Amino acid sequence: MADPRSTGPATPGAPGTPPTPGTATTTALSAAAGTLGGERKGPVEQVALALFIGVPFVALIAAVPLAWGWGVHWRDLVIALVFYYVSGMGVTIGFHRHFTHSSFKARRPLRVFLAIAGSLAIEGPVIRWVADHRRHHKFSDKEGDPHSPWRYGETVPALAKGLFYAHMAWMFDVDRTPQDKYAPDLLKDRDIVRVSRHFLLWVAVSLLLPAAIGGLWSWSWQGAVTAFFWGGLVRVGLLHHVTWSINSICHAAGERPFRSRDRSGNVWWLAVLSFGESWHNLHHADPTSARHGVLRGQWDSSARVIRWLELLGWAHDVRWPSRERVAARRVTGQAA
Ligand SMILES: [Zn+2]
Ligand SMILES: [Zn+2]
Repeated sequence: MADPRSTGPATPGAPGTPPTPGTATTTALSAAAGTLGGERKGPVEQVALALFIGVPFVALIAAVPLAWGWGVHWRDLVIALVFYYVSGMGVTIGFHRHFTHSSFKARRPLRVFLAIAGSLAIEGPVIRWVADHRRHHKFSDKEGDPHSPWRYGETVPALAKGLFYAHMAWMFDVDRTPQDKYAPDLLKDRDIVRVSRHFLLWVAVSLLLPAAIGGLWSWSWQGAVTAFFWGGLVRVGLLHHVTWSINSICHAAGERPFRSRDRSGNVWWLAVLSFGESWHNLHHADPTSARHGVLRGQWDSSARVIRWLELLGWAHDVRWPSRERVAARRVTGQAA
């Protein structure tokens, strides 16, 4: 039997329900209430954004030669791995499956923890992330999608340009997704607004806490520096590019066993690093499903952790996909 909770569109403002764009008006809720800054980015923010994208990226490129030579201790890798998991799952389980798509409900301490953990990925404040992502689902690969690799056309040069845009250039678009239209539910949640507005604090924690742990663990300044490099910069850089690959690669490549309105694909080789988010074709076919890797052998560690949270009683009303629901979305089941 199909799960009745899973049949309707998601939360208010979620895919399927957001109001028409281009009707931005001043409402009682300020559009910028969930984050610092206004609805348009200023030059200072653009420079800050470039630094936050560029510095971890350079660290990531520099990391490989360093790993072969000197400057990495197993301690650094442990710290980097733990922070990769916490911040990465904060995005996949928290920002994406819980806050954007309401694929499960969370007890309040877990909900706040997920908002903070996802903020440590340095991918923007939670409410802005959710607003952008809901807009992505509403217009996926059509005009209005904030990051479609197909925006410039179908030729090879157009796709190359589009992939770059979908991967990172889209973040420099000066127009922001109106949060009061796409995330009104989160703007009403005072705890989440507070977490969202303290984004710079989470950036500092994300970069400095690994360094502090490395310093105390090794009782040396050098340990603090290498932990900052690996657990801070390299970890953030890798997570950025994995997350952005879902927007770029997973809308241009991969298998499409499920029916969706867009070009989303399942990309198996990103599944482990992305905690199961790269089963993106299923996700667009069934956005509220708590599990994205629904076929045999499809690794989805986010779904596994949601299951643990459910067993602990911290998560409830989880929208697990039923076999019938999955079958109904298969391309081969289209005739039925
Ligand atoms: Zn997508
Ligand atoms: Zn989504």
